[in-house]
Amino acid sequence: MEESRPLDVAQQLTSTGDMDPEDLRRYGHQIVDWIADYLKNSRQYPVLSQITPGSIRLALPAKPPEQPEPMEQILADFEQTLMPGLTHWNVPGFMAYFAITSSGPGILGEMLSSALNVNAMLWRTSPAATELEQVALDWLRQMLGLPKPLFGVINDTASTGVLYALAAAREAIPDLAIRQKGMAGRPELPRLRCYTSEQAHSSVEKAIITLGIGQEGLRKIPTDSEFRMDVAALERAIEEDLAAGWRPFAVVPTIGTTSTTSIDPVPAVADICERYGLWLHVDASYAGSAAVNPDLHWILAGCERADSLIVNPHKWLFVPIDCSVLYTRKPDVVKAAFSLIPEYLRNAESQGDEVPNLMDYGNALGRRFRSLKLWMVLRYFGQEGLAARIREHLRLAQLVVKWVKETPGFELLAPTPFSTVCFRVHPQGLDDEAKLDALNERVMNRVNEAGHFFLSHTKLHDKYTIRIAIGNLHTNEQDIRALWAELQNYAQSELKVITSA
Ligand SMILES: *Cc1c(COP(=O)(O)O)cnc(C)c1O
Repeated sequence: MEESRPLDVAQQLTSTGDMDPEDLRRYGHQIVDWIADYLKNSRQYPVLSQITPGSIRLALPAKPPEQPEPMEQILADFEQTLMPGLTHWNVPGFMAYFAITSSGPGILGEMLSSALNVNAMLWRTSPAATELEQVALDWLRQMLGLPKPLFGVINDTASTGVLYALAAAREAIPDLAIRQKGMAGRPELPRLRCYTSEQAHSSVEKAIITLGIGQEGLRKIPTDSEFRMDVAALERAIEEDLAAGWRPFAVVPTIGTTSTTSIDPVPAVADICERYGLWLHVDASYAGSAAVNPDLHWILAGCERADSLIVNPHKWLFVPIDCSVLYTRKPDVVKAAFSLIPEYLRNAESQGDEVPNLMDYGNALGRRFRSLKLWMVLRYFGQEGLAARIREHLRLAQLVVKWVKETPGFELLAPTPFSTVCFRVHPQGLDDEAKLDALNERVMNRVNEAGHFFLSHTKLHDKYTIRIAIGNLHTNEQDIRALWAELQNYAQSELKVITSA
C-alpha cells in the first residue's frame, strides 16, 4: 500500500490539515485489526510493565514535532516505544487492585463517542446524550434491584462522585449557608463531621479535604473481625461528637471495601442516619456492579434509603474507564450545591424541570458521551449475560479460597464475599511476623516479575496480605490454576531464601 503523507505546513494553511477521510478509514481499519489481535493474544504480554523508571521519557524526543509526521511513524512508535511501558490492565492475568475490562461493545462505544465528540453540558447541546444517560442509568438501577425514584449522573470516577455527594450532604444542612458564605472566619459555624470506616477508600478523605472540612472532620470508625463498620461504635462516636459540639452531617459506609471487599451493615447505618438526620452516602464503587446478578440484590440492602450511592461500571461491569455512576434520591440538593447558570448558558430548557441540564449536578461543565458505551454494554450482554460473568468470577474466587484452605502453608486472611481473595503464605513453624511479611512480599514480587500475572497487596491486622482480584472478563479457570501453581512454586523457593538468611 502506498504510504500516505501528511500535508506539509504550507498545504495545511490552505486546507484543514486533518486526516483525509480515506486515510482515516485505512488507519481506522488497521487500528481495529491491531485491537482485535491485541485482545486475542493478550496473554503474551508481561502484565506489569518491566521497564525502569524514566526510560519511556528518555526514548521520546524532548522537543515537540515542528513538521507533520506520517501516521505510519506515529503508530510504529506506539508499538515499539510505548507498548513495553504499558501495564496491561485489559488482560486476563491482571488481578491487582481491582481488575477491570474494556469489552468489545465498550471499546466500540468509546470510538463512536470520540467521533461524535458531543459535549452534553446542556440538554440542547446534545439531547440524545442527556436522555440516553437518564435511560441507561434507569436500566442499570433496575438491573441492580433498586427502587424508583433514583436520579443518576455519570462522572469520570468515584472520587469525583463522592466529592459531589458530600458537597450535597453539606448543602443539606439547614442554616449554614456555606455555599454563600464559605467556612473560614465564621466563629458561629460548628465544626462538621463525617463518618466512614477504617477500611473506607481514600477518596472519602480526599473529598473531605477538598471541601475544606479538614481531615479532622472525618472520623474513621473501627471495624469488626470481618472488616465491617462497627455500628455501635458509630453511634457512640456521634453521641460523643454531639456532646463536644461537633456537627455530624454524613456517614459513608462501603459495600465492597478496597482491601477485603467487606460489606458494611448499611441497613443499620441507615437507621442511625435517620435517627440523627445525617446524609447517607453508600460507596459501592467496586461491588455494586455484582448486584446485576439477581442472587446478589441483597448486597445493596439499605441502599434504597441512601441519599446517594456510587457504582462504577468501569470497575466490574465491563465498561471501559471512565464511567462512574452517582445515584441520588435528592437531585435537588445536589443541584442546590452546584447549579450556577451564567447568561451564555441560559436557554428555554433551563427554565423548566422537563429535562435536566447535566452540568447542574457537579462541578464539571463539559460532559463526555459516556452513556453510549454503557448503553452498548448493557444491551450487548443483557442482564443475564452480565450476571453470568459475575457468577463465574465468584466461582473462580471460591476455587482459590478452597485451594488456600486446603493447602498447607497458605492462610486465608479475610472472608471472600465477592471475587477478591486475601491470603498469605504461612508455612508451618514460621511464625515470625517480620519474616512472614518479607516472604509474602518476595513471593508476590516473583509472580509480578514472571509477567503472566499482576497481583497487589494490602495490610490486614498489620499482616502483609496478597490479594487476587478477579474481575477481567477473560480470566478463566486455566488462568487461575496457572497462577496458583506459580504461587506454590515461589512460596517454596522463597521460603528457602528466608529460612537460610
Ligand atoms: C475504586 C474505588 C473507589 C475509587 O474509584 P475511582 O473511580 O477510581 O475514583 C472508591 N471506593 C471504592 C470502594 C473503590 O473500590
